[in-house]
Amino acid sequence: MTNEARIGRIYEQVVRRNPGEAEFHQAVKEVIDTLEPVLVKHPEYAEHKIIERICEPERQIIFRVPWQDDAGEVQINRGFRVQFNSVLGPYKGGLRFHPSVYLGIVKFLGFEQIFKNALTGMPIGGAKGGSDFDPKGRSDGEVMRFCQSFMTELHRHLGEFTDVPAGDIGVGAREIGYLFGQYKRMTNRYESGVLTGKHPKWGGSLVRRESTGYGTVYFVDEMLKARGQSIEGQTCIVSGSGNVAIYAMEKLQRMRGHVVACSDSNGVIHHERGIDLELVKRLKEVERRRIADYAEFHRDATYLPGGSIWNIRCDIALPCATQNELDEAAARTLVANGCVAVAEGANMPTTPAAVRVFQEAGIAFGPGKAANAGGVATSALEMQQNASRDTWSFEHTEERLQQIMGGIHRHCHEAAAEFGSPGNYVLGANIVGFRRVAEAMLAFGVI
Ligand code: GLU
Repeated sequence: MTNEARIGRIYEQVVRRNPGEAEFHQAVKEVIDTLEPVLVKHPEYAEHKIIERICEPERQIIFRVPWQDDAGEVQINRGFRVQFNSVLGPYKGGLRFHPSVYLGIVKFLGFEQIFKNALTGMPIGGAKGGSDFDPKGRSDGEVMRFCQSFMTELHRHLGEFTDVPAGDIGVGAREIGYLFGQYKRMTNRYESGVLTGKHPKWGGSLVRRESTGYGTVYFVDEMLKARGQSIEGQTCIVSGSGNVAIYAMEKLQRMRGHVVACSDSNGVIHHERGIDLELVKRLKEVERRRIADYAEFHRDATYLPGGSIWNIRCDIALPCATQNELDEAAARTLVANGCVAVAEGANMPTTPAAVRVFQEAGIAFGPGKAANAGGVATSALEMQQNASRDTWSFEHTEERLQQIMGGIHRHCHEAAAEFGSPGNYVLGANIVGFRRVAEAMLAFGVI
């Protein structure tokens, strides 16, 4: 059988065995379609069915999460943890609380996490979890009771050497605090390394909050440098206004990029004079309000309800909101408007057809597995600090993050050239991540 046929068969089997999980199918296809040249070089990977094994999670946990809202009414949500691969280290990956969460979303995220985590070069396996719980509009007490119920079930599957969750959409330091408190209570252990994204006052790492956004911008900087360009003076747009988007905008501004737009799921803020980041932070981080309110404070800014941010002219575009937010039509608009670089701060925000548009246009495209790996890499730095009962300075931690992002860029760049597609970071990232996992799987035998 040819390798192409083999890959086609594996994909068909994934679709058959995981019916209705469109996002998972998409994530698998995006990776395995780039692996043919690796199978040519390493026939042993096919012989040992490495790809087939990677596509099947090691363990999947689905559970009931009952809790009481402020009115005393009983609510029932569904909790998930997909422990995908642990050959490089304990399972590692965030928890997402959002009404769209179902098994297919958790599996796509967990699958991506395997390769992303391998790319960081840190000793972490891949996992993801979450719930269809919607934290929007819920009181602190409701969020706390939900988190406690969630952890009451999940704690038995976690541990600093077993599985280490963190945040994702809808899960920040507040939720991690409630989850950690309940874990400690259930296990009678102050096991700092069981969760990352903790507040720095009680075991968290400095820079973890900023790391995904900062890392994405470091990656853009590396891609531009490789082409003799830089961020300075470039017009930038960043979708989203959560943790990733906010700190991507901060780093862009510090590197003298001109950020003119951001968004949330309701609409887009366009501020030609430059986004007032302190205001965005206050609205989103402190007051938990919508981005529409930005326009109340700046009369010269435009709010576009339900608008597409990708219609705004820019040189650099960072999708930092959610999966499949940037489609083929949007990609064509960006290219026509002269965009030179796109990097994924979110996970799989660009549809496969949109990725093709960017690649055919020859613009620098950084896939999430590489570009947003700074978040989980800093989680691994948090685990290091916890294991040694140490805390590092902001400067030292940020320097480590910058080195890690530089290394990821270099490895992806080299692999893309080695496998005959120079400048193709999608191929480079998939191959580097896959090879690291595949080598460990071979060494461990049939497990
Ligand atoms: N949710 C983040 C990601 O997509 C971070 C995961 C972590 O820190 O474990 O990579």
